[in-house]
Amino acid sequence: MTGAQKYTKELNDLSASLGMSVLGVAELEPVRQTFHPQLEGPAKGLKYGIVAGIRLSDPVIDDIVDQPTFLYKYHYQTANDALDRAATAFGFYIQQKGFKALPIPASQTVDWENHLGHLSHKALAVQAGLGWIGRSALFIHPVHRARLRLVSVLTDLPLEPGSPVKGECGACKCCITACPAGAITEQGYDKPKCIAKLKEFSRRPGINQYICGVCIRTCQG
Ligand code: SF4
Ligand code: SF4
Repeated sequence: MTGAQKYTKELNDLSASLGMSVLGVAELEPVRQTFHPQLEGPAKGLKYGIVAGIRLSDPVIDDIVDQPTFLYKYHYQTANDALDRAATAFGFYIQQKGFKALPIPASQTVDWENHLGHLSHKALAVQAGLGWIGRSALFIHPVHRARLRLVSVLTDLPLEPGSPVKGECGACKCCITACPAGAITEQGYDKPKCIAKLKEFSRRPGINQYICGVCIRTCQG
């Protein structure tokens, strides 16, 4: 077993012990141009992105009809916490091996005008071969569908990367019908329309977050 194979296996074992549902490794070069400029310095010399996903609770997601629920709001926050703790644990493992680890939080915004983070966890998950992007612009996993939340750690630890897989929505149009903003069409996803609806939801008493959940619940495959 090579060093890269050994490290990849140990990270997979650690990931499972932390309750993660999936783990993949992405080569960074194909996605580096999508990084926010603030990441250029810290990510220099880092070759791989570890991306882990945790499956959201089916009873919580299935309870969403046409707007975010309080159950979803709190579950979203605790899922992000679990992902960030896992990313920290991956980082400690990597540092103990003598390499660099740059954790990117599960939920982070650095460009408020365009609602972008340091990087797209979804882009890393696609590059790692974990799934694809659906009509709703959500990351779709072949088993967990749109019910994974993701976190990433960039590193120079030698690892075994995956490669992108093919996947498509086919004849499904469920999220087009369900989206309360009309932001999903056969032509694609209209981000400004979606963001406007999330903003509206965030103003509802007790929500105070840019969340929705409708297209996540709808995507059954
Ligand atoms: S998050 Fe909500 S508003 Fe945005 S595309 Fe999905 S269903 Fe539509
Ligand atoms: S609900 Fe259907 S159309 Fe929408 S992302 Fe999922 S598979 Fe694609």
